Amino acid sequence: MKYWSYLIAKLLAAAAVLWGFRKLVVWLVPPPKSVKYIQMKDPFATDLGYTFAVMLYCLFAAGLLWLIVLDQRYRCRTCLRRLRMPVHTGSWTHVLFGGPQTEYICLYGHGTLKVDDLQITGRHEPDWEPHEDIWKELYSLEETKK
Ligand SMILES: [Zn+2]
Repeated sequence: MKYWSYLIAKLLAAAAVLWGFRKLVVWLVPPPKSVKYIQMKDPFATDLGYTFAVMLYCLFAAGLLWLIVLDQRYRCRTCLRRLRMPVHTGSWTHVLFGGPQTEYICLYGHGTLKVDDLQITGRHEPDWEPHEDIWKELYSLEETKK
């Protein structure tokens, strides 16, 4: 729940930034003052400067959304910290016996994210595996020693 709430919060912040940026673009590139354009409400696709500005705005918005999704994908599902310590596993030369993967872990032991590096048969979604509580395991080991 916390994971998805964080994504929604980032999307709302991006929407606010994009709204402000859109106002800035309209302010910087005002519609032309000719009679023909006054009759139309939006000069998009008829005025080259305005259309080019809207195209740049759309590229910026798409890039911002892509960065948000990429950042969210590499976060811990429990504590929302960035996943660290990428470890490459598998082999590029022996794809049948375990293709190449990159594993990221949460530094606080909440889980592991496995991302396939080789995607021949279509896109594979990253595999998140939550870990058991490491303190429980350590306490149980200590109790068995007594
Ligand atoms: Zn974590």
